[in-house]
Amino acid sequence: MHEIGVVRAMVKTVTDYAAANQIDEISEIVADCGELSLVIPEYVEELYPPVVKGTPLENTKLIVNIVPGMAECEDCDEIFNVIECNGYCQQNGAVRQGLYHPGDPCPGRT
Ligand SMILES: [Zn+2]
Repeated sequence: MHEIGVVRAMVKTVTDYAAANQIDEISEIVADCGELSLVIPEYVEELYPPVVKGTPLENTKLIVNIVPGMAECEDCDEIFNVIECNGYCQQNGAVRQGLYHPGDPCPGRT
């Protein structure tokens, strides 16, 4: 379970940022968790309370957003969900694909 390292790193990032920016109070932390990141959100949520116990983040709330893992077919430019589609483009069954980053211009849909 590598999530404990992820949670510890997240807590350190937030506490370091708060210290550097004179932030005294934090009520909640919102984390985006990518579907293709190999991090299991349920484990992150489960590990958060014991990791923050005794730290300035002890009474904070953790909110985990799941970010869908999207890919762009390099043959037809279709954008599809990698997990739902088992990694195959549903337009032509192609397996050639590149990762799609939300916010990129959407090809083929202008
Ligand atoms: Zn395709």
